[in-house]
Amino acid sequence: MNMEFERKLAIPMEVKEMYPLDGKLGKLWEEREAEIKAVFSGRDERLALIIGPCSADNEDSVIEYITRLRDVQEKVKDRLLIIPRIYTNKPRTTGAGYKGMLHQPDPSAKPDLFKGIVAIRQIHMRAIRETGFICADEMLYTENHKYLDDLLGYVAVGARSVEDQQHRLTASGIEVPVGMKNPTGGDLSVMMNAITAAQSGHTFTYRGWEAHSQGNPYAHAILRGYMNKHGESLPNYHYEDLRHVLELYAEKPYSNPAVIIDCNHANSDKNYLEQVRIAEEVMHNRRYSEDLRKLVKGFMVESYLVDGAQKPGGVTYGQSITDPCLGWEKTERFVLDLADGV
Ligand code: PEP
Ligand code: MN
Repeated sequence: MNMEFERKLAIPMEVKEMYPLDGKLGKLWEEREAEIKAVFSGRDERLALIIGPCSADNEDSVIEYITRLRDVQEKVKDRLLIIPRIYTNKPRTTGAGYKGMLHQPDPSAKPDLFKGIVAIRQIHMRAIRETGFICADEMLYTENHKYLDDLLGYVAVGARSVEDQQHRLTASGIEVPVGMKNPTGGDLSVMMNAITAAQSGHTFTYRGWEAHSQGNPYAHAILRGYMNKHGESLPNYHYEDLRHVLELYAEKPYSNPAVIIDCNHANSDKNYLEQVRIAEEVMHNRRYSEDLRKLVKGFMVESYLVDGAQKPGGVTYGQSITDPCLGWEKTERFVLDLADGV
């Protein structure tokens, strides 16, 4: 191979031994996880709100953000269940650019995967310890899921990964809800096939083992908009789009049909301020149609301390270095208003 193998990385078991989740936090994880599953099964009628920065680029600013979110969660706890985004690895359209805390725990230094693995475990653990939240992350690399599987409350399979068999089969062995995004090209059958695959049990290879998965009854859809062949972003959160997904869900006996609306990405064409209007429109349609009220179980929103985005290397504390995010004041207003509309 035309690669240099620099050093062998610690396996998940070793990293977990070095940084274990203590019993009290483990219990907290179990309680919060039960609440999240109750929302995705419809037993709990609250809305899920998966919200936070596009990328977790800095432990302190992300924890500060989530700590502020904790106070808002307290205010809206009867109506919303907040699952903060701590996204530690980022898919890149061309492969170039910042690939997340896993690769670059210090975004201004060169990649260091060993430090990265420790850093992502530490930030997720610190979130639970300091705020009681269990958080969401994207499963960009299937083999890395086990570094975090005892900490996460929600997993997303991204638009660029959702057609990949290993992602689907790994999702089928994950205990927590896994959101399958529609692919960047918008083909909803790819997303539905991913849900079917993830809800079934499989035998496959995982980290050098022959593994058997049980199937994940909480695998569900995330609509994130798409790009057409002319490179234009098109939304898929409108009333007709949601009715269409309802029909797709009716074609097979799925467990726990659910849709999360990703308000940024191709749905907003990354005009991050539009996220507020998009969620409002979906809430209107949920009130209008009982079917959609049951189907749409929540939202994904990109939000951080400071509005917008800066280039990697920028020095504004709490401003995204990947996709533009809704800043804190607007976020707080948004969450309170969203809760009022439930
Ligand atoms: C994201 O959620 O930040 C992301 C990269 O999403 P997608 O896979 O939809 O592009
Ligand atoms: Mn993003």
